[in-house]
Amino acid sequence: MATPSQHLFAPSQDGGDPNRSEAAEPVLSLKHISHRFGDVQAVDDVSLDVLPGEVVCLLGPSGCGKSTLLRLAAGLEILQVGEVELEGRCVARADHPQAPPEQRNLGLMFQDSALFPHLKVLDNVMFGLSHLSATERRRRAMAMLDNLGLTAHADSYPHLLSGGQQQRVALARALAPAPNLMLLDEPFSALDARLREQTRDDTLHVLKNSGAGTLMVTHDPEEAMFMADRIALMRDGRIVQLGTPYELYCHPAEPFVVRFFGEVNEVQAEVREGRVHCAFGTVPAPGLDEGCPVRVLIRPEAVRVSLIGEARLHQRSHVVVSRLLGRTSLLHLCVHGEDGREFHGHSRMPGVFLPSPDQPVALELDPSQVFIYPIP
Ligand code: ATP
Repeated sequence: MATPSQHLFAPSQDGGDPNRSEAAEPVLSLKHISHRFGDVQAVDDVSLDVLPGEVVCLLGPSGCGKSTLLRLAAGLEILQVGEVELEGRCVARADHPQAPPEQRNLGLMFQDSALFPHLKVLDNVMFGLSHLSATERRRRAMAMLDNLGLTAHADSYPHLLSGGQQQRVALARALAPAPNLMLLDEPFSALDARLREQTRDDTLHVLKNSGAGTLMVTHDPEEAMFMADRIALMRDGRIVQLGTPYELYCHPAEPFVVRFFGEVNEVQAEVREGRVHCAFGTVPAPGLDEGCPVRVLIRPEAVRVSLIGEARLHQRSHVVVSRLLGRTSLLHLCVHGEDGREFHGHSRMPGVFLPSPDQPVALELDPSQVFIYPIP
């Protein structure tokens, strides 16, 4: 079980240092950025660093300000409040001349690959290399295409490529000038599920090889966990929690963070003798006062189900329906609390585990995926 006080002391089990910003000079520093569109406060006092070679994901629900923040970093939006630094150099400060995107040495990639339709793939990639000799432009562009398995398509026009291939060409084009910073806005969201997985895997490898720092917008928590060294989870223009995927998933700062990473069972309870008893089981609640009312958020994978023989359904929890989801099985449960109240909840069990409807079950909780927050 993780209580809010524990987050400060969360061990970094992913091998990363949560205080990375002290270790190297950031390629991008966003300092106290705020931005309004009329009455809408799109970004509200956000500060964030991206280090060389690091992938940072801006994650959050629609309209929370992710794209606006990225566009401010890119210079596609005029900065109203705060400061943007690239490698320690101020490129934008409110009420000062602001460097346009082409003077920021960054690579941009969006949901729509926006390739030039009248140029062949190779010419698209060479486009941003006009400062080099023709031979060097070609050599550099071919090397990028080779990295992404696109050599055979160098002489094709973009419309002959699949969506995933077009996105890879867009990545090659953005990376060809060797920018120190890559800014990616939902780069995979137009692709279907299988193509998305493959394309983001390729993209991660190429980004990591390039050594560029990356700031990427996504609304998909699984994608953020796949891509990111660190995630900045946003809500209403602010960063709610910034940390490694491990820190956000296993030490969520508040209920919003838990819920954002997937559906949870949610009950209210009170702390009794350092523990919380609820219909799903009992977990320790260190550091919380006796009698304190709490919100208990239980991930379905924390609910371990075992089958029992005795069928006194008015007292026992039982299975309503089981579904195989692939690597896991999802059990819809009817859970009975000690006071006789009935709850509906979910358990996610590994592998194929499909008890029949009405099967009586015993429940046990894995405290590491149960999160307890005092109710103010
Ligand atoms: P999504 O995932 O849906 O793209 P987001 O988190 O990227 O959302 P933004 O696009 O940054 O959010 O928008 C933040 C807020 O600012 C939203 O309320 C949006 O409607 C508003 N907004 C964004 N751009 C403009 C604009 N050009 N004019 C007016 N309002 C805007």
